[in-house]
Amino acid sequence: MKVLVTGGTGYIGSHTVLSLLEAGHDVLVVDNLANSSRESLSRVQEISGRTAVFHAVDLLDEPALREVFARNSGTEGSHSRIDAVIHFAGLKAVGESVSQPLRYYHNNVSGTINLLRVMDDYGVRTLVFSSSATVYGESNPVPYIEKMEIGANNPYGRTKEQVEDILSDVGAADSRWHIALLRYFNPVGAHESGRIGEDPLGIPNNLVPFIAQVAVGRREKLMIFGGDYDTPDGTCLRDYIHVMDLSEGHVAAVNHVAQKAGVFRWNLGSGIGSSVFDVLHSFERAVGHELAHEITGRRAGDLPAFWADPSAALADLGWSTSKTLDQMCQDHWRWQKNNPQGYTTA
Ligand code: NAD
Ligand code: UDP
Repeated sequence: MKVLVTGGTGYIGSHTVLSLLEAGHDVLVVDNLANSSRESLSRVQEISGRTAVFHAVDLLDEPALREVFARNSGTEGSHSRIDAVIHFAGLKAVGESVSQPLRYYHNNVSGTINLLRVMDDYGVRTLVFSSSATVYGESNPVPYIEKMEIGANNPYGRTKEQVEDILSDVGAADSRWHIALLRYFNPVGAHESGRIGEDPLGIPNNLVPFIAQVAVGRREKLMIFGGDYDTPDGTCLRDYIHVMDLSEGHVAAVNHVAQKAGVFRWNLGSGIGSSVFDVLHSFERAVGHELAHEITGRRAGDLPAFWADPSAALADLGWSTSKTLDQMCQDHWRWQKNNPQGYTTA
């Protein structure tokens, strides 16, 4: 297939571009480089020996997006035509979404509406969307199952929920759409080559990138947000998933929905809850020494514990995770150690 990947220079996008190329698909990337570097695609080319065609386009610029589809239109099934879209492009920082809600709704929701309009006009109706476990909100019991009611508790999460609603409505109105809503849990790690990985701008919000920057000497110590939760060691539990398992989940999903019309929801997680200390100790094993840390107050909005029930993805897609927390930390560390300043090192 010829697959257009929006947000394809970003963290999960670049790993998925690699998996798609390695699976034999042709890949086009659209990204505005708001939170990423073109260098990621050069590295993907170096690893795979294949090239993804890059277009520096903002989804909010509908005419420019239309031009990409116009240049890749053709009769159905022909080599020149886009067959499917995997849609990663979006802003993702929860705290920033609270202080800049309009920017988040505009970028994530309006950007998606532009994409859907252009896809529809060009008859491309197969879409895989990056949703998030954050849509499950605060009131569901764990593990999370796809059929549960959703209700996010912050603007970022609500952009995901709104796009899920829009896609459900689009699929209900027109049975020619083939849509996968993938709810990711906590993606970490990097490709085992250590050539591509997560390169956050500024101070990392997420646990593993923060630990990695402590390990490489860019931050003094990890602040653990809360040690008094009702969990085995007092810290929060999350479902960490290796980014290569996640990228392979996208290949499985796009292959599946390409053959099947409708709107489908799948959790992409491991089904295992790991604590902040589990992650810290695993990263310390990868690095080979202890890392400075301190327990501080709880972070507003954090849930004590959640993880996926990933059985639907296994049953429908034949997909499940294969990599352990130790492999996630080893691979994340290899990337960070070899690229202490991320892609700017290059
Ligand atoms: P990322 O920031 O590395 O990648 C997103 C990419 O989208 C970036 O390259 C950015 O430049 C691009 N982008 C943003 N707005 C755009 C626009 N208007 N037009 C074109 N490009 C645009 O983030 P990621 O971690 O790879 O996440 C990918 C997707 O997965 C996002 O939608 C995110 O919300 C979702 N997600 C991420 C996580 C996570 O923990 N990383 C968890 C659940 C869901
Ligand atoms: N966390 C932490 N210190 C940090 C970043 C995160 O203790 O600097 C904790 C956070 O409270 C949560 C877990 O690590 O319990 C995972 O946080 P992350 O932001 O990576 O994922 P999310 O909370 O969005 O699932």
